[in-house]
Amino acid sequence: MIPYGRQDIDQQDIDAVVATLRSDWLTQGPAVPRFETLLCERFRSRHAVAVSSATAALHLSCLALGLAPGDYLWTSPISFVASANCARYCGAEVDFVDVEPSTGNLCIAALQTKLETAEREGRLPKVVVPVHLGGLSCDMTAIKALADQYDFSVIEDASHAVGSEHLGDPVGNCRHSDITVFSFHPVKIITTGEGGVALTNDKTLASRMSRLREHGITREPAEMTHSPDGDWYYQQLELGFNYRMTDIQAALGASQLQRLEHFLSRRRELAEFYDDYLKDIPVHCPVWRNDVSLSSLHLYAIRLQLDRIATTHTDAFTALRSRGIGVGLHYIPIYLQPYYRALGFESRHCPNAEVYYGEAITLPLFPLLTASQQKEVVREICDIAK
Ligand SMILES: *Cc1c(COP(=O)(O)O)cnc(C)c1O
Repeated sequence: MIPYGRQDIDQQDIDAVVATLRSDWLTQGPAVPRFETLLCERFRSRHAVAVSSATAALHLSCLALGLAPGDYLWTSPISFVASANCARYCGAEVDFVDVEPSTGNLCIAALQTKLETAEREGRLPKVVVPVHLGGLSCDMTAIKALADQYDFSVIEDASHAVGSEHLGDPVGNCRHSDITVFSFHPVKIITTGEGGVALTNDKTLASRMSRLREHGITREPAEMTHSPDGDWYYQQLELGFNYRMTDIQAALGASQLQRLEHFLSRRRELAEFYDDYLKDIPVHCPVWRNDVSLSSLHLYAIRLQLDRIATTHTDAFTALRSRGIGVGLHYIPIYLQPYYRALGFESRHCPNAEVYYGEAITLPLFPLLTASQQKEVVREICDIAK
């Protein structure tokens, strides 16, 4: 089976991990702050808090922004469940904004309409989490303008968008958001095994997230309730977590980051081949660059033109899998999950999201995909979608 995504680990990555294994520090050593500095440099944010997963980064981001019971977080239904679950960890309510049919990204017009209604009903969100689906940045200028008008905070779920650009800037510089989150899971653009980071330009948010990453503990005398009892002393000021990244992971991440430009150019090269090979069959190729954004191409998701194809979405998906093409489906609308249905969400909540779910198929795309594997994928798609 050709998978839809997989990591690319080379000798340099292995050497970096082995060197850390032989060093004095497996965790809480120098590799994590070093990786954080490299992330700040590459993505042009002032602060980086590296953690055990993007899910942890989303949770800490919500806590740092003060999300609490009684508050609302809005996100896109076409995402991984973690984009919504972070609100539930804080006891807050979730709601979903419908997506644009062509990109699956949060729809600005739908957001605006929903905000107008929410304002009348006194239920404005405290936090909005746009998700850069497949790596294509949402229209962050428009989202930031609405954030200023309606006074909500913005967390970019950029789990897919490591290396993406928006208005010529790297996603992660937080020009239009409070915090940006990346995932370093092995199917994503660069990996640390498990891992994630929260990037921000706000010093207070960064220090809140670092403290919550380590049990809510401080070693800074200035933050303590009284002067330290001695050199051993620390204080737990609030209830935090162990969301640390290890030095082993950070060493792998720093090495992978050096290879990012190669990964991006390889992904874009493969996407150009797909665009070209698939242009004459009844599928929509994904939008991966437009006037304002250039995608990292975490996902290459086609949409079937069902009115022009003899098969159904389900049958096409099953046929591709049975022919060894490990296609994926990103994503099942989050509110259709039993956990969210039990909270009261019903089908048709976001009609565009359900149409997207009924058409999308993610094709294999990763740096080590070979030309012959890609041709095999294309051959099977062309045979099935006709
Ligand atoms: C992968 C992913 C996450 C979660 O990332 P982890 O690092 O696995 O916790 C969150 N949001 C989106 C959109 C993702 O794709």
